[in-house]
Amino acid sequence: MQCQSCGMLIMKPEEFSTEANGVRKLDYCKFCYYKGSFTEPEITMAEMAVKLAGPMRINKNITEEQAKETAMDLLKGLKRWQGKTGQ
Ligand SMILES: [Zn+2]
Repeated sequence: MQCQSCGMLIMKPEEFSTEANGVRKLDYCKFCYYKGSFTEPEITMAEMAVKLAGPMRINKNITEEQAKETAMDLLKGLKRWQGKTGQ
């Protein structure tokens, strides 16, 4: 399963988000969505890409620009960002 907000692969049941009533929500990880709401409801796709680019850059040994582009491509395919322009 992949988080539909940040693209993180969710490996463990406890990493899934939950609704306010505690029911597990399979679309998102707990870092993006917690107890029924997004942890950062105002974040834009571009800001999320910047957040992802940091660790991605180190893991893949690529430049920050390349990492941001890769992150944007990843985010474009996720449910949370469908129909958003990325601005
Ligand atoms: Zn997430």
